[in-house]
Amino acid sequence: MPNTIYVLQDRCTGCSSCARVCPVPCIDMVPRPAEDKAKGVKWPKLAVIDVDKCIFCGACVEACDNLFEKTKGKNPDIFHAIVMEKEQVISTTAVDTALYHGVWCYAEQRHGKLMPTIYELLNIGRKLSGDLNEELAAVLIGHQVEGFSQDLIEHGADKVYVFDHPIFEQFLDEVYTQAMVDLIKQEKPNKLLMSASTLGRSFASRVAVTAHTGITADATELAIDPKTGMLHATRPSFGGNLMATILCEKHRPEMVTVRPMAFPRAERQPGRQGKILTVKADPSQWKVRAKFAQFIPEQSEIQDISQAEIIVSGGRGLGKPEGFRLIEEFAKTLSAAVGASRAVVDAGWIPYRHQVGLTGRTVRPKLYIACGISGQIQHLAGMSSSDVIVAMNTDPEAPMMKLANFAVEGDLYELIPAVIKELKHLKGEN
Ligand SMILES: Cc1cc2nc3c(=O)[nH]c(=O)nc-3n(C[C@H](O)[C@H](O)[C@H](O)COP(=O)(O)OP(=O)(O)OC[C@H]3O[C@@H](n4cnc5c(N)ncnc54)[C@H](O)[C@@H]3O)c2cc1C
Repeated sequence: MPNTIYVLQDRCTGCSSCARVCPVPCIDMVPRPAEDKAKGVKWPKLAVIDVDKCIFCGACVEACDNLFEKTKGKNPDIFHAIVMEKEQVISTTAVDTALYHGVWCYAEQRHGKLMPTIYELLNIGRKLSGDLNEELAAVLIGHQVEGFSQDLIEHGADKVYVFDHPIFEQFLDEVYTQAMVDLIKQEKPNKLLMSASTLGRSFASRVAVTAHTGITADATELAIDPKTGMLHATRPSFGGNLMATILCEKHRPEMVTVRPMAFPRAERQPGRQGKILTVKADPSQWKVRAKFAQFIPEQSEIQDISQAEIIVSGGRGLGKPEGFRLIEEFAKTLSAAVGASRAVVDAGWIPYRHQVGLTGRTVRPKLYIACGISGQIQHLAGMSSSDVIVAMNTDPEAPMMKLANFAVEGDLYELIPAVIKELKHLKGEN
């Protein structure tokens, strides 16, 4: 039976409580038909649900039922007006979860270079494995990569599984997936964390499908339920309007991709001891249809904000799209990346890849300079862990000015040129 949802017209008061909680949104309040008025129904409006858009989350049912509970003593004939029937999905592949142990972190490398996101995974992985009292392992796949193993151990891994073979020299989803899934079947890890990088997102989803398990993408918070030992993976949903905590009850490993910079990096403990386990790959058994052709590096001068040590960000205080030329010049003087608030991204002044915040990128630079950005909570969610924050704003009461280590009150069109001039002078450029 497919999912169904409908409104019991005679119980609906048109109060809009359901529409207010709908995250899609797919509920409209419409005038009641004339025959209802003729029957003496006193409520002028009625809720109508667009079933094609509805995601059957049940929020509207709960809102209406709560009102029923509050008012049933006085009027039992109203509220309790939304009926939802959900299809029962019965999984035939549920696993014996007791057989799965250990927290794994995938150590992403690109062209023989270890990506620093692994240190963030090891940091949160250490916390999760501690809460579970299970081992923390790193999985390294590549060619001539074994040398990274000790570094991973010194950043918290108890053991490192290493696939080192020429077939892994270039990243190919199919090849890497075969290796990872073979290892999962053999070792049965409980949790598997990967970075939500471009490569990690592509790889992780393929691993999850092949290993018949569930995955939460782009998580920003992770915790272990002390009663069940299950992973609670939380991520922004519906454009950041909701924070959704997602569980994977019946399948293992519980997989998650973790948003870069959502967690601090693990500290290095020089000399820490752990096991290095070399895993033999047998590519002759794998079905691989894709072939690596060529790697063409990006020819862009634009710095990626998620890895930048200094970020100069512009907001609506720039007043016009051309204002970003000044931000770019400022950033160039500091060898910084250019960030932005959502207001200016939505206005089309700068592409989305520059957006900092809840629905943009999370950043942790050494220096974050916010120019004409008020500092609404959704922006702060993406940058408040920066080491040093400088704010330039005409409004001394703006939240960003309160948060900043150095708050400079004034017009950015006067302040920035003066700072650029001074920086150039210090560099001997003028
Ligand atoms: C679900 C959801 C998700 C969101 N996600 C994000 C997100 O990821 N990132 C994000 O940034 N926002 C996000 N937002 C939007 C956020 O709430 C704010 O609307 C947005 O951050 C405001 O951008 P702003 O600071 O550039 O603009 P404003 O709030 O308009 O601030 C402009 C600032 O510029 C100052 N100013 C004006 N003129 C000058 C001048 N000449 N010199 C110096 N200062 C000047 C003003 O005093 C003001 O403080 C989200 C909102 C929602 C509802």
